[in-house]
Amino acid sequence: MSISAPQIPIEVPKRRRIAVLTSGGDAPGMNGAVRAVVRMAIHCNCDAFAVFEGYEGLVHGGDMIRQMHWEDVRGWLSRGGTLIGSARSMSFRERTGRRKAAKNMVIRGIDALIVCGGDGSLTGADVFRSEWPSLLQELVEAGELTQEQVDPFSVLNIVGLVGSIDNDLSGTDATIGCYSSLTRICDAVDDVFDTAFSHQRGFVIEVMGRHCGWLALMAAISTGADWLFIPEMPPKDGWEDVMCSMITKNRKERGKRRTIVIVAEGAQDRNLNKISSTTIKDILTDRLGLDTRVTVLGHTQRGGPACSYDRLLSTLQGVEAVRAVLDMTPETPSPVITIRENKIERMPLMQAVRDTKKVAACIQAKDFESAISLRDAEFKEYHRSYLHTATPEHPKLILPEHKRLRVAIIHVGAPAAGMNQATRAIVAYCLTRGHTPLAIHNGFPGLCRHHADKPVSSVRVVEWLESDNWVNEAGSDIGTNRSLPSEDMEGTAKCFELYKFDALLVIGGFEAYTAVSQLRKARSQYPVFKIPMVVLPATISNNVPGTEYSLGSDTCLNTLVTFCDAIRLSASSSRRRVFVVETQGGKSGYIATTAGLAIGAVAAYIPEEGISLKMLSRDIDFLRENFAKDMGANRAGKIILRNECTSSTYTTQVIADMIREEAHGRFESRAAVPGHFQQGSKPSPMDRVRALRMAIKSMQHVEEYTGMSPDEIAADEKSASVIATKGTQVLFSPLGGKDGLEVNDTDWDRRRPKTESWLELQNTVNILSGRSNPGSNREEGWTCYEST
Ligand code: ADP
Repeated sequence: MSISAPQIPIEVPKRRRIAVLTSGGDAPGMNGAVRAVVRMAIHCNCDAFAVFEGYEGLVHGGDMIRQMHWEDVRGWLSRGGTLIGSARSMSFRERTGRRKAAKNMVIRGIDALIVCGGDGSLTGADVFRSEWPSLLQELVEAGELTQEQVDPFSVLNIVGLVGSIDNDLSGTDATIGCYSSLTRICDAVDDVFDTAFSHQRGFVIEVMGRHCGWLALMAAISTGADWLFIPEMPPKDGWEDVMCSMITKNRKERGKRRTIVIVAEGAQDRNLNKISSTTIKDILTDRLGLDTRVTVLGHTQRGGPACSYDRLLSTLQGVEAVRAVLDMTPETPSPVITIRENKIERMPLMQAVRDTKKVAACIQAKDFESAISLRDAEFKEYHRSYLHTATPEHPKLILPEHKRLRVAIIHVGAPAAGMNQATRAIVAYCLTRGHTPLAIHNGFPGLCRHHADKPVSSVRVVEWLESDNWVNEAGSDIGTNRSLPSEDMEGTAKCFELYKFDALLVIGGFEAYTAVSQLRKARSQYPVFKIPMVVLPATISNNVPGTEYSLGSDTCLNTLVTFCDAIRLSASSSRRRVFVVETQGGKSGYIATTAGLAIGAVAAYIPEEGISLKMLSRDIDFLRENFAKDMGANRAGKIILRNECTSSTYTTQVIADMIREEAHGRFESRAAVPGHFQQGSKPSPMDRVRALRMAIKSMQHVEEYTGMSPDEIAADEKSASVIATKGTQVLFSPLGGKDGLEVNDTDWDRRRPKTESWLELQNTVNILSGRSNPGSNREEGWTCYEST
């Protein structure tokens, strides 16, 4: 995933004092937000303060409001919970409490507050801002402060960051903590799978979400749950019968051995009667005689370190929050920092809170249509997609005979997490609509191998049960291959004819993209290729032109984060140590850069920038200064990430050796190469849910060509396209045509897009590590803070 980075303000008109606090329920990633706010504030020549124990600390004052220095937040990215504490504060709910809080801020010269919490915390912040002038007036009238003291603080700047595992705030696709929590849930359900399968049991799994079903919905998608209960979409009356018949069908007719039902804790029926996990268990046990167990996941959903996405999100939003403080004028409404698709944005805080509260009110008023429409469009789309894949051969969705397609699915290139999940979703959608899903085994060579006289085995219809089991499996079950159709274009065309493909879905990375490009160009010679073709980007390198996100890249980042956390900790028991970690990614530095942000690397060396002797010399100086200042409080190692293709001279080992040589015994250095470990053992929930979304959208796209002639299809530029995540949209980027990707955005030699929006994140990596600007720019303005 590539999140667009905010622009970093360099000039600040006057020195500001900015405080950050975490409030309400804790969430993984809050520490990342505090770290980013503190370091960005210092970078921008401001003083940073942390308020301990939420609003309670603001009211209490004393040493609960502390100035924070660069090294105070070292190592925070990998820590769970919130290290500055969180609390529900009754005193801040009272005006007298807020008056004390205002006084505490003024006497410390703080006029900006960045609050990371849920909608309650953000409401509290907004109340505080609106009352601020009158609170100061009261303090003057009571003689607690003088007019001169309050004059410079006429406006309180508030910026919200949404820290909540529920993902319940309207206006943002994700809140800090929600993907970590989803990861915990999926890990738990994956474990339950095994025992459910062994004993042919049913499991009812209750997840958090009193008013918001995001966690439950995404968990249901990620684990292929048979049934789902969420507060926004209560089931229709008689749901007990429908659920039972569906589960019976899955078990008896389709042979499924395990049954999973996911329930949000706020699940209810249309009359607002609670649907508890025990009620569901009793129904399954009594009516179906199914050995059913209830698992309430509870607080395990909150704990543990943040996943890579939450580390990126909290870091970039923390940086943006400081920027928002510095941009604010007295007229600016308090903003909350959001993310829409992959773009960090701001929106008026109270609008987001109002919309969020409206959802709860609509549910209370039994107006479920409005409740769901107030959630993000993405939420509705995911819900619909889940239903499309959870209810095969749905009577309302099945198409008439003449509209049914023969859909070929092929994997091309290296395996990546998400390939199986996308294939599973395509198969499920096909069966729901009446299409025939045809898996091509082992890529294009697999397709051609048997065409001569035995059209068998390499192309076959996939059964629902087989694909259902792919829901949490890594890699490519149908087999993938790097070879391209150009190696046997004629044989490929013959097979297309033989199997009568109506559409082709190619899942893979740059090779998948190249394959579709070749087939598109060969259409004039082989009309059989005049069918809709879509590339579903799946590669850990995230180097497919036209898209900012490829399946597998999130899993890879999580794996790298786990790897780096572990080796960094290993250094704490030995000497001071720098690890030079080699990342995959081909000639794209995406993985190295984003992992650099997620782990707080000293630097990320990438092919787009290369490595020079001067750069290495600077970085070794930087490390030397760092270790000289390090008094041993935090002995965890430091990490430099180096993409595998950055330089043929300065290899990972050479760099590690150079650092060791130059350290003169003051610190150690080691090379570490995680290699194929980076492909991950299980796909991350983000890769799983996005695989579903891409698959369903791609299928809907190819359905649009039904009834068109081959020439009409070929004439439509989007008939050969990449399903792309771009800024705030998911769309189809055409390969051909004068504005197509092949000409406009493909660096064929380097096998990457010409434009890489994530490149600007390098600057943020350097700012937050204290390394300042890389390369020649670092000559000027060289600052040296302690890294990580
Ligand atoms: P969350 O932020 O997770 O929604 P809460 O609703 O418990 O959690 O809010 C956290 C804290 O924010 C409360 O304990 C209180 O101190 C403060 N707060 C919430 N709502 C208000 C309000 N309307 N006015 C003042 N403070 C509030």
